[in-house]
Amino acid sequence: MAVNRIGLLTSGGDAPGMNAAVRAVVRTAFVNGIEILGIRRGYNGLINGDVFEMEHKMVNGLTGRGGTILYTARSPEFNTEEGVKKAAKNCKYFGVDAIICIGGDGTFRGALDLAKHGIPAVGIPATIDNDIACTNYTLGFDTACNTAIEAIDKLRDTMQSHERCSLVEVMGRKAGHLAAYVGIAVGANVILVPERPYDFEKDVVQKMRRTRIHGHNHFIVIVAEGVAETEGGSQNIADKIAEETGVDARVTILGHIQRGGRPNARDRVTASRMGRHAVEILRDGKVNRVIGIQGGAMQDFDIDEALAMEKDLQETMYDTARILSLS
Ligand code: ATP
Repeated sequence: MAVNRIGLLTSGGDAPGMNAAVRAVVRTAFVNGIEILGIRRGYNGLINGDVFEMEHKMVNGLTGRGGTILYTARSPEFNTEEGVKKAAKNCKYFGVDAIICIGGDGTFRGALDLAKHGIPAVGIPATIDNDIACTNYTLGFDTACNTAIEAIDKLRDTMQSHERCSLVEVMGRKAGHLAAYVGIAVGANVILVPERPYDFEKDVVQKMRRTRIHGHNHFIVIVAEGVAETEGGSQNIADKIAEETGVDARVTILGHIQRGGRPNARDRVTASRMGRHAVEILRDGKVNRVIGIQGGAMQDFDIDEALAMEKDLQETMYDTARILSLS
């Protein structure tokens, strides 16, 4: 299949590095004589025909910019058969031979639906959750970790001065990769993630008591968003900690700050490599793939298979956190 024109969109939650991937796609396509049609606001743009020709000059200086110049959105209409049909029809109308979509697993499910309607697709994994199984790394994760770490380092100073407990909620509804990484990096006393059940008395209260015996007078507890939700909110967890330990516990919810900011070196470089790879496999006739990076090498996987894979927290990561928090 010859690919002359590729549609490009970003979808789902934004992540630092999306723009660098957009730039890489546009530039690689230009070098290979392929046209790029930018699609605004994810699948919504495809349904509404909100598209524009992308020239390579439009992406100058984009590697270091956070967010996404294509805008992103969640499109309930695209979850319907009618919505997908409309999008596929528009692809044909605009002469789009294939789509490159940058986003998370929801975005790739959408891509699979499009593929079933005759529009081939390639997915580039971008989400600060790092929860795509076919890749060791998803765009945005490292920058998000560093943003959280910077904020928590500041919190630590004030918690230390007041001998308090700082409970920090980080993003991650179903995945605790961000919480685990950040927790290790800031030397958290407790890390709570959705993938691992925990016993409040044993894993939180007793742990804090033991830590106190070791001479600590301030505490950092990292809670992934998904755990906070099942506990009725982070404030509930903090209130329980204060009640059981007598330590003043304060909540900070980092929220969307974790998704913003200039992508760091890892995100810029990985996005550049993934963007290039996505265009080159389409040029070579490989379709319906998700790009991944494993052992530092670019790879690609069948979308169906990629979506069926599962990614658990690395046990060694969790163990490292446990050992280093002296429990
Ligand atoms: P993140 O996890 O970082 O937010 P994501 O890509 O998983 O990224 P979602 O909100 O799950 O984000 O999905 C983005 C969009 O992809 C949805 O708004 C919808 O347009 C499309 N989509 C998601 N799931 C499906 C599905 N099962 N079928 C068709 N389209 C889907």
